[in-house]
Amino acid sequence: MSAAPREPRAPLRIARIDAFAVRYPEPNNDGKIRSLTLVRVTSADGLVGWGEAITGAQEVSLATAFIVERRLAPLLLGSEIADVRAAWQRMRDATYWDGNGGIVTFGISAIDMALWDLAGHAAGLPVHALLGDAVRDRLPACASTILATDDLDRIGREFSGFVAQGYRYVKGGWGHDLSIAFGRDERRDLAVAAAVREAIGPETEMILDVVALAGWDADHAIRMIRRIDDGQRLFWFEDPLPEHDIAGYRAIRAAVRTRICTGEKGWHAEHYRRLVESGALDVVMIDPGKAEGVTGTLGVIRMAEAAGQAWNAHSWSSALNTAASLHLAAVAPATLLFELKPVPSPMQHELVRDPIGQVDGWVSVPAGPGLGVTVDEACVLRYRFTEADLGR
Ligand SMILES: [Mg+2]
Repeated sequence: MSAAPREPRAPLRIARIDAFAVRYPEPNNDGKIRSLTLVRVTSADGLVGWGEAITGAQEVSLATAFIVERRLAPLLLGSEIADVRAAWQRMRDATYWDGNGGIVTFGISAIDMALWDLAGHAAGLPVHALLGDAVRDRLPACASTILATDDLDRIGREFSGFVAQGYRYVKGGWGHDLSIAFGRDERRDLAVAAAVREAIGPETEMILDVVALAGWDADHAIRMIRRIDDGQRLFWFEDPLPEHDIAGYRAIRAAVRTRICTGEKGWHAEHYRRLVESGALDVVMIDPGKAEGVTGTLGVIRMAEAAGQAWNAHSWSSALNTAASLHLAAVAPATLLFELKPVPSPMQHELVRDPIGQVDGWVSVPAGPGLGVTVDEACVLRYRFTEADLGR
């Protein structure tokens, strides 16, 4: 369906690569501090591209910034880059020992995303036009939030509020507080599912996501998915088991009619090949801020597509990741929806001058050159932190 990727004609000469560890309170997670690594790539002719790694912990954000500037940047600085994929391959080849997941792969992800932004600016085209033929310019928006409470009234108010905002898809799940996280208590899980359905009414689509350390086995997952889907109708059910439990996923798939989704913890194509070839998934979850950037993510999307599986962007960090994921979705026919943070967040709404949001339940693919979002560098410096700030 898609034509061969097009690249800007002139090679890019990279003059600078800078990394910034940032931390911020996330209003969509009760104000808890989250952390990312942002990367700015500057070309010899003064063009700038931005990328992000969804690093999570503050120490990892700092370590990733170090790896970007000291380990990966020297591989690219000063040399001409004929296309972004060549730069991606150069970084991968040079880190065959220390890469393959982890902090180095976070670094490659952020630089790759920034290079696609830069390549788009150099070509005067949005990133999706460099990736292939667009099949859409908007997607259904899904309000994606964390069920960080066991207060059912509050959950009800939140979710009915999302529908009032225009969302026609909602997703709840995953929390850092395991004492109240979805998936840890059968009685409460069923009550939460019922509270969400009651709040959103019969028409809105509902997705639930089990916390990583829930400890479910396939039998429990099958029972819970059947009970929730029978009563509350699920659009998909996410991460019922750890990603490595392929046999468990196969058992679930054989037993329920509900769409099953997993994959957000993956780093590279080989991990996803196992998931895709298992035939046990309906939706493959990928984060371009972790899974080797736009280049790595597009490879996995095409793999899933060939196997008749949808993909979904695990994009719940900065506006850079959101924009990159939207450009990928623009060229990926098997995309069902797009998750957004429903409450304004610093790394979405302060980081860029043109934040991405939904209108009447739809989110548009940015149309401007590069990623199509304009970073406010003052915001980057405002949220930047260093090793000296740890522990404060
Ligand atoms: Mg998830």
